[in-house]
Amino acid sequence: MDRTNETAQNGSSGFSEERDINRKRTDYLEWDEYFMATAFLAAKRSKDPCTQVGVCIVNRNNKVVGVGYNGMPIGCSDNEFPWAKNSANKLETKHLYVCHAEMNAILNKNSADVEDCRMYVGLFPCNECAKVIIQSGIKSVVYMSDKYSQKITTIAAKRMFDASGVRYRQYIPQNKQIVIDFSEINWNEMTQEPQTPSPVKNSLTD
Ligand SMILES: [Zn+2]
Repeated sequence: MDRTNETAQNGSSGFSEERDINRKRTDYLEWDEYFMATAFLAAKRSKDPCTQVGVCIVNRNNKVVGVGYNGMPIGCSDNEFPWAKNSANKLETKHLYVCHAEMNAILNKNSADVEDCRMYVGLFPCNECAKVIIQSGIKSVVYMSDKYSQKITTIAAKRMFDASGVRYRQYIPQNKQIVIDFSEINWNEMTQEPQTPSPVKNSLTD
């Protein structure tokens, strides 16, 4: 079947099976969507049973300079350190040990610094992360959920952001989900060019 005349079925929700291969795709991800999705993908690495948070930091040229998720410090085994939220023995709760995604993403940076960058994060940062964000020079935070808006840690974080000029805005996704389909890469295999011919003699050496 000749797919060249088939057009995209929809313009916004992820990838469509049929598309016009002679025109620019219209169902590509917007920057905000792409970076927030990157943060959410990173969150899938988290071992935390309750809260999986991911972060993606980008510079003003929209280049990713850091990615992170919440987890135990290096050398502190995921299997040996506690994941409990509450425990009779306070020493056995995760809060004392887990590195939040924001801090990890900043420390994971692949650039000299994160000055003037913006951070995409699934959940509004806590006060401890707000301090790190401010001190690192990050200038804006794009978050998805503000479910702990009444918690003292969030209120303190906003107070510090407001005082130090770090802007923050909520990201409202256009699509509820983005599907990553590993077979997508072969969607047009029926229109694949013939196999690469066997090597021919280099004309320069003839
Ligand atoms: Zn935090």
